[in-house]
Amino acid sequence: MGLFTNDKRPCVICGGGTPRLFYTEVEGNALCSTCADRISMESELRQNLTMEDLYKYLAWRDENDALKAAFTVTKEYKFGWLAGALEIDEEHGLWRLTSECGGIIFQFENIAAFYISEDNVLICTGSKDKYERYDSGVREQVLSLQGQVQLARALAMRDDRDDNNRELRLEKPFENFILTLELKDHPYWHKAEVKLSAPSFGGDNDIQYYMRTYNETVAKLDEIADVLTHYCFPAVTEGTAGTVQQAAAPVDVATEIKKFKELLDMGAITQQEFDQKKQQLLKM
Ligand SMILES: [Zn+2]
Repeated sequence: MGLFTNDKRPCVICGGGTPRLFYTEVEGNALCSTCADRISMESELRQNLTMEDLYKYLAWRDENDALKAAFTVTKEYKFGWLAGALEIDEEHGLWRLTSECGGIIFQFENIAAFYISEDNVLICTGSKDKYERYDSGVREQVLSLQGQVQLARALAMRDDRDDNNRELRLEKPFENFILTLELKDHPYWHKAEVKLSAPSFGGDNDIQYYMRTYNETVAKLDEIADVLTHYCFPAVTEGTAGTVQQAAAPVDVATEIKKFKELLDMGAITQQEFDQKKQQLLKM
């Protein structure tokens, strides 16, 4: 097929033309892009794929594709343009992430556990043994920035500048929400993961906007956690749902030490107490 096709090496699966450059290979055999695009598995498996594995996979994939005909989305959670969506078929006990794992359809039974985190700070987890939520402290952290914004605005006004608080650039407390689905009893995937961009403050350090967006996303993730727990771990739903635990946020050692140094300087704690606390923090 035309100039950009490696006609001399037909696709080992369908016999179609393969790309002249950068075509996919399995044990030295070329694949066309259509066949190559159907391969969706952990990269480790993909790297060591033999032709025998590939035929087995393609048969499995045909079965999985057949599920699409029955797949009826009853709940859909959109994550944005790049991250796609989580689609759930409650009736058939199926789900898929539209932008991850090649759109493969999974079963609720494939989920061993789920984790929702803000970067590396866990805010929610569910498995057959537990369903827990944690307060990451982001709301508190963001609200505490209000003073900085007000001060910057006041200074800008005093200096009669019209660039508002441009010099102040509030840093996002975290980059991404991450939904991780730990899988079991699946031949090709042991984990499915999707990243959602965390909100930002925008050019004008809009804290209300941040909080609104943050709360909306957390509410959506909470709903996902509830739905997954309900269908995947019905035994733990009762009693534990919605329990918010103590923050699991990692400690910023330098900031903590500074805080205690201030307390020491104020005379609120003794040198000995300070040394003790410092030792503890440095060991973390
Ligand atoms: Zn092909």
